[in-house]
Amino acid sequence: LPDTAALQQLDAAHYLHPFTDHAALAQQGARVMVRGDGIYLWDSEGRKVLDAMSGLWCVNVGYGRRSITEAVARQMDTLPFYNSFFNTTTIPAVQLAAKLAQLAPPGFHHVFYTGSGSEANDTNVRMVRRYWDLQGQPERTVIISRRNAYHGSTMAGASLGGMTGMHVQGGLPIPGIVHIEQPHYLEHGAGMTAEEFGVHAASWLEERIRELGPDKVAAFIGEPVQGAGGVIIPPSTYWPEIGRICDKYDVLLIADEVITGFGRLGRWFASELYGIRPDLITFAKGVTSGYIPLGGVLVGDRVANVLRRGGDFNHGFTYSGHPVACAAALENIRILEEEGLVERVANDTGPYLKARFATLATHPLVGTADSAGFMAGLNLVKRKAATVHYQVRFDPVLRVGMLCRAHMFDNGIIMRAVGDRMIIAPPLVMTRAQIDEMVDRIRYCLDLTQAELKA
Ligand code: PLP
Repeated sequence: LPDTAALQQLDAAHYLHPFTDHAALAQQGARVMVRGDGIYLWDSEGRKVLDAMSGLWCVNVGYGRRSITEAVARQMDTLPFYNSFFNTTTIPAVQLAAKLAQLAPPGFHHVFYTGSGSEANDTNVRMVRRYWDLQGQPERTVIISRRNAYHGSTMAGASLGGMTGMHVQGGLPIPGIVHIEQPHYLEHGAGMTAEEFGVHAASWLEERIRELGPDKVAAFIGEPVQGAGGVIIPPSTYWPEIGRICDKYDVLLIADEVITGFGRLGRWFASELYGIRPDLITFAKGVTSGYIPLGGVLVGDRVANVLRRGGDFNHGFTYSGHPVACAAALENIRILEEEGLVERVANDTGPYLKARFATLATHPLVGTADSAGFMAGLNLVKRKAATVHYQVRFDPVLRVGMLCRAHMFDNGIIMRAVGDRMIIAPPLVMTRAQIDEMVDRIRYCLDLTQAELKA
């Protein structure tokens, strides 16, 4: 086994981690992950942990897939890098583009590659502005997003995102990006049915478009299900109504499917599930199951045809269409298809997870437990009530979510805490037996959390 203490010392001395409180990290020492297989990870002390978050929502086919390693190695041997600027291309980049066009919803035949989801959302900003320029409406520049959304960490990505904690650092959002409230039934839906609330929440978009003036609005962006915001599943009426409003005011619709793409909700793209008819789709993560970084924008015909007629689009990254990343994506997609993982989530393990996860709502600490496909979340509450809007929350200073997360982490399961909401997004390879194991483990750690709160 590696020398954990020495690694932790080097880590604390030299590594500035993303989204990490370094004072706390220095005290505890980082947990060093060394190996993965299927849905499990092992740390440098040999402890096994069930990764219910698929890394960062990305390891859809699970860890340790030798065939991806081999596809990557073959491509590295043949051609480790070439770009697709200035009239060149590579075989994996072309093959993947064609494959993505085949998997995408109707009306999508083109892809623009990036290295990450953040870069892909920056690309969206530039692309929609370029589109409206070419359409002779250059004043259409504003993009409307939602509070508590996550769209990445670049300047435009973090601005599109609606996380207050990110906006206060660095004076975001950048000009031209505004936010409306999120379709969060528990937070804002008291006194309404979920369906009524969905239409109501969509009306906030129409209000904002009218305030700004429709001729100023370029696009609306949203995650089909908000991920990092806490797995916020919208009512079924929300997206169809958003679509109607975008059509009415001729506003482009961007679906950020960085988390929801590639099977997580039992469809290749969740837009199909929710009746979203986007003009642009952001993807990353699950396209390679995170084995190699890759992201991009699927560009619908409406935008692609204008851009293709418009001469140079002065935008691109060294690693746009990186051949090794594209080779990893092709093999990852082949695995998803061969093992029928998307259909399995839709028809078998997804419904099973829903039923098993819902049983956690009987736990005294749990107010609600809901899921969509392989994304799920539960709310920790101080006092339950029959009506979800009347449940009593813990005082935030208690940081009950973090307590719970620590018990999970120490007892062999990784869940994420968003305030007092505990969320999961497991690898799509998770079996029924492993779902049982996960739910049992969560229940056990909820017991430990409850015991600690009582003590
Ligand atoms: N969009 C969504 C919905 C995400 O969840 C993320 C990352 O979590 C991003 C964009 C940013 O992707 P990346 O971290 O690859 O830049």
